[in-house]
Amino acid sequence: MRKHIFNAGPCVLADSVRENTAKAVLELENTGMSIMEVSHRSKDFEAVINETIDLFKEILEIPDGYSVLFLGGGASLQFAMIPFNFLNKKAAYLNTGTWAKGAIKEAKLFGEVDVVATSEDKNFSYIPKGYTIPSDADYFHITTNNTIVGTEILKDIDCPVPLIADMSSDILSRPVDVSKYAMIYGGAQKNMGPAGVTVVIIRNDLLEKVTRTNIPTMLKYQIHVDNGSMKNTPPCTAIFAVREVLRWVKKMGGLKEMDRRAQAKADLLYNAIDQSKVFVGTAAKEDRSRMNICFVMKDEYKDKEADFMELTKSKGIAGIKGHRSVGGFRASCYNALEIESVQLLVDTMREFEKSIIK
Ligand SMILES: *Cc1c(COP(=O)(O)O)cnc(C)c1O
Repeated sequence: MRKHIFNAGPCVLADSVRENTAKAVLELENTGMSIMEVSHRSKDFEAVINETIDLFKEILEIPDGYSVLFLGGGASLQFAMIPFNFLNKKAAYLNTGTWAKGAIKEAKLFGEVDVVATSEDKNFSYIPKGYTIPSDADYFHITTNNTIVGTEILKDIDCPVPLIADMSSDILSRPVDVSKYAMIYGGAQKNMGPAGVTVVIIRNDLLEKVTRTNIPTMLKYQIHVDNGSMKNTPPCTAIFAVREVLRWVKKMGGLKEMDRRAQAKADLLYNAIDQSKVFVGTAAKEDRSRMNICFVMKDEYKDKEADFMELTKSKGIAGIKGHRSVGGFRASCYNALEIESVQLLVDTMREFEKSIIK
């Protein structure tokens, strides 16, 4: 029986994505070859990668002058590639959690890092506000959704310097004004597909700002732009699956519909948490993530967490254990998760609550 998959990553994928990718693993179209066997330079794969790029441009309404790249190394490698290419003197970062900290750590290897604000004082449970972005920074880096602590920046901010966003865990969940960003990136496995490919959307004029001359070939964005993400063999199967995700998003009604679904699922679960006598949310209300919904049991019920986990497991609910830095529970409600799964989780929370409050 298929589970209700609340995993934080890799994420739940729609039926059509798994079915069509499975078929292509057996045979891509009528090529007589698996997607795992075709040449990445063949016409058949070219059609796949070109359609994937076109779908990104169409669905995210990416303006002219941007490139869409498929790279290796996960979002984690972008933490290093970004400063390697673009940090000439000083870069600004917003510290909103574990992933932001990872990006800051790498940037410090390449130059001066100005952390404009941090929410570390309260275990990253909110998004800092009222900070100033230095106008002499080479770029400003933000993490739009903090997968571990469940906070999210839902607005496209105005920025006086090139804005670079790690959107690993909320890309494709709402319409985005791409023109406000110099670069958007994400590991595919949170909302775009399976692990194995990283998507980078980069404004081409950002490449003109690169002055460092000792960047290794595979870490240069310019090389990947010039070679259409084929400087080396790209992860063809993962890219195929991303195409299927984009086809699914489009068929469902695009980002407006993803936005509506995300809000409906988040409202349902946060309302249940707020009405509960047993559970309590961990993130500041105004900054709550719609993708990763974190909650714990109130202190007097803390010893019952294992029992609740058991009950959810018996209902086929998977992946709701919270990250060890937050504890409790995290329900990741990525695009492909159906609201019925959230309803089942809510019903299970209510059932558990009744069983322990007499
Ligand atoms: C998971 C995650 C990463 C790391 O992604 P990898 O592709 O595993 O390197 C980076 N940033 C955010 C926001 C994430 O959720």
